[in-house]
Amino acid sequence: MTERIDGHTILIGLMAYPIRHSMSPTMHNNAFAKLGLNYVYLAFDVTNDKLPDAINAIRTLDMRGSNVSMPNKQKVIPLLDKLDPAAEMIGAVNTIVNDNGVLTGYTTDGTGFMQALKDENLNIIGEKMTLAGAGGAGTAIAVQAALDGVKEISIFNAKDSIWENAKRNVEMINEKTNCKATLHDIDDKEDFRKEIADSIIYCDSTGVGMKPLEDLTLVEDPTWFRPDMIVFDTVYAPRTTKLMTVAKQAGVKHVFNGLGMMLEQGAQAFKLWTGEDMPVEYIHDLLF
Ligand code: NAD
Repeated sequence: MTERIDGHTILIGLMAYPIRHSMSPTMHNNAFAKLGLNYVYLAFDVTNDKLPDAINAIRTLDMRGSNVSMPNKQKVIPLLDKLDPAAEMIGAVNTIVNDNGVLTGYTTDGTGFMQALKDENLNIIGEKMTLAGAGGAGTAIAVQAALDGVKEISIFNAKDSIWENAKRNVEMINEKTNCKATLHDIDDKEDFRKEIADSIIYCDSTGVGMKPLEDLTLVEDPTWFRPDMIVFDTVYAPRTTKLMTVAKQAGVKHVFNGLGMMLEQGAQAFKLWTGEDMPVEYIHDLLF
């Protein structure tokens, strides 16, 4: 690392709280080193109250940009100069690019999800998806899938605090894209089973299957799945979730955790900052 840093090194940040556990600094710094790029990526503890000063520092210090994560993904929007159309629809930003003092906000979770499927040579364009969850990850996935040409998305959510957001997502997708989105109550199990049976892909973006819910899955019955479909869990710790185990019992060939999405959302941000492709396989082997 020390031989890479000199007077020309360009700084990229990660602004969130808590954030010290993040794998992003290791991912990006190893990718910079591998490609011989003179950048460094550092994590900063930034809460909502420190966010305006932190964002202004991107301009003041002529940083190339930053990632932002919770609790700043929505709060950062009014502090930026421009928004990518997908970030505007999603209502959240995870990547900021600084072009000569003009800060543009992007969100790469949705493009990361779509790229993770492309990496596996799987196509969902023109097909139907059933998606559980409409929080941060679910919104990004639904909007990007709709923008990219997925034909139909059945969104299932609990009638909790996220339900209103799920309603907004469905209205927005129907208004602004050619995709047909519908909202369903996740407690209506027969409806849930039928929509999955009709889909090429089932994606769970709820975090059920991750601590403290690691023994749970929203789909317990393997007969809900077909071997020719895709089952995708956004959770990556544990590597094999309960949902993935049920899908494998059903003989589903294409079963994924959230690792590919996590790597690809980083790779999309890397490309926005540097113009270069992140060496994804190298980083995957290094980290996992
Ligand atoms: P969030 O809090 O914004 O949304 C959570 C969603 O899950 C909501 O729709 C909520 O209604 C639903 N939910 C929560 N508990 C539930 C339960 N018991 N039953 C049914 N539905 C329930 O969270 P988020 O930021 O969208 O993250 C969700 C998951 O996605 C987490 O596991 C997170 O680690 C993962 N994630 C992965 C990536 C990646 O790159 N792989 C990126 C972002 C998020």
